[in-house]
Amino acid sequence: MHLDSINCFTQCLWIFKKKPKDKSTNNHTYSPPSNVVCLPRTNQLESLLTIIRDENTNREDFIFCSDRIIRLLVEEGNEVNGVSFNGKICGVSIMRAGEAMEKVLRVRIGKILIQRDEETAQPKLYYSKLPPGIEDRYVLLLDPMLATGGSVIKAIEVLMSHGVKEDKILFLNLIAAPEGIQAVTSKYSKLKIITGFIDQKLNEKKFILPGLGDFGKPV
Ligand code: URA
Repeated sequence: MHLDSINCFTQCLWIFKKKPKDKSTNNHTYSPPSNVVCLPRTNQLESLLTIIRDENTNREDFIFCSDRIIRLLVEEGNEVNGVSFNGKICGVSIMRAGEAMEKVLRVRIGKILIQRDEETAQPKLYYSKLPPGIEDRYVLLLDPMLATGGSVIKAIEVLMSHGVKEDKILFLNLIAAPEGIQAVTSKYSKLKIITGFIDQKLNEKKFILPGLGDFGKPV
């Protein structure tokens, strides 16, 4: 294991012991709708986010820390839904960044590829492969960054056109912009968004501020 990874690991272990009870959302200027769940703002989470936001963090530590946040998102998803998953659950990643979130799940995985149509500038479905019987399952929809919400709205349309019920969709992401949350929740009020952190806003290039740059291209 890389030395920095060991430091990162011990830092996280130390942080586990110092867990404040603050369950408030972490962007104090924005109140998300009630179907948005923000991870409890613990020292552990703050530290993990600081590490993945740091442009000097190496690839190994970035993956270690983002995987840890993804596990927290999945655990929060279980808590939100209680025992009602009943084994009927699957994951669907929005390619390509969402694929980085697949490995922490031990369930069937589907994939959706959505890209911007050059002519219409609208998100367009290019590929989808969904698990059989998805219409009877809860779906953990995976994409690490919720920016404008365009891709995830398209992905939700695809899921629902395959019979998935809106209230059985849990959209898991590490960092969300208020603009993306508004876009998704104004269309869909029954699904759940589970996010690690709500950032300030989008910049003119539709990147999240402060965000962490391009998630697909860490160091
Ligand atoms: N995707 C990213 O990787 N980063 C952003 O800030 C927005 C979308």
